[in-house]
Amino acid sequence: MAFVNENFLGLSSGYLFADIAKRVNAFRSTHPDTKVISLGIGDVTQPLCPSVIRAMHKAVDELASASGFRGYGPEQGYGFLREAIAQHDFFMHDIPIDAGEIFVNDGAKSDTGNIQELLGRECVVGVSDPIYPVYIDSNVMAGRAGTKLPDGRWSNILYMPCTAENGFVPPVPHGRHVDVVYLCYPNNPTGAVISRKELERWVNFALEDDVLILYDAAYHAYIRDADIPRSIYEIADARRCAIEFHSFSKTAGFTGVRCGYTIVPKEVTAATRRGERIPLGSLWNRRQCTKFNGASYISQRAAEAIYSPEGEREVKATIDYYMSNADRMLAMLSRLGFDCYGGRNAPYIWMRTPDGMSSWQFFEALLHDAGVVCTPGVGFGPAGEGYVRLTAFSNHEDTQEALCRIEKWRSNK
Ligand code: PLP
Repeated sequence: MAFVNENFLGLSSGYLFADIAKRVNAFRSTHPDTKVISLGIGDVTQPLCPSVIRAMHKAVDELASASGFRGYGPEQGYGFLREAIAQHDFFMHDIPIDAGEIFVNDGAKSDTGNIQELLGRECVVGVSDPIYPVYIDSNVMAGRAGTKLPDGRWSNILYMPCTAENGFVPPVPHGRHVDVVYLCYPNNPTGAVISRKELERWVNFALEDDVLILYDAAYHAYIRDADIPRSIYEIADARRCAIEFHSFSKTAGFTGVRCGYTIVPKEVTAATRRGERIPLGSLWNRRQCTKFNGASYISQRAAEAIYSPEGEREVKATIDYYMSNADRMLAMLSRLGFDCYGGRNAPYIWMRTPDGMSSWQFFEALLHDAGVVCTPGVGFGPAGEGYVRLTAFSNHEDTQEALCRIEKWRSNK
């Protein structure tokens, strides 16, 4: 008899975006003439840039000839891409990351979920609240989260509320037992960033308390302020305590192409029960060689192309396009009296719901009164109650139309 992994049974069956889609479909069926505009889902809308398209065509042509054909690639990623990443994302910014510490993947979602396979089940995991749900759910699947509490939290997870008062950056949990902490900056869903000083505080805490930081930098390309760190390794000592995840999804529109990378510096270790320190880079390499056969050659050539001078220019133009949406959204929503956060160095705006409305009440009102979809903040964790997330990933026209409708709706109140 096959026994089920019962840890899966504790996961909530409703997936936030499925729930949203259900409500939107119900609205559409009763309002067939209203064009619904989504400022909700976190997928990009603009096409891949020309340099990427050219690189993909070229890669396909190579695969079509006997001399250019490639089968399985290196599990860690092709050298051409690892070198380009090391050079452009790190060396050129004076950050010492070696190509051998870079593991190319098929996107950050897989690795932010899979990385916990390297860790003992007894590890206490800390997460910010609200949070990108993969961090918690993957630990629930592994049996590390404990039991589910009536408020939906897990007994063995340390939740660190991110609020307007703390700038959506949790204070280090001095005096609380924690072994592994997930941090994500720029943050999904709050759009917040972390200052160098705050990040230093986290790195020092991790070194003093022997904590492993899992740092998700999927949105680093959206940082516009020069003094905001784009990588945790800008803090030199982070090499001893942090693993970092990157994604080309939001950097270059690769949500469908699939490619990203994970950095495991040689100095990062975790302990055996007898106190021996094991380098996590060699364990991750072992895990990848066993369970992963690499991202496709075509995706990796596509990713390499974003580091060419034209590629860099084109990718930046698309990011600027989205961020001009964010600028317009912030300007209009603030003018209408909404409390808005984020949106300056991230494609997300975290907006407090007015008049004490819950996240879902505001979602329903915005959908029914303006035909605009947002994401209820409570879907990202209990501390997200009373907020909604708006994204800048729509096109200009729809963003503008959504803002006009919101303006009309609020002025009729
Ligand atoms: N990390 C964060 C914080 C995200 O918001 C997302 C996607 O929305 C990902 C990782 C996943 O990225 P990828 O498409 O590379 O799997």
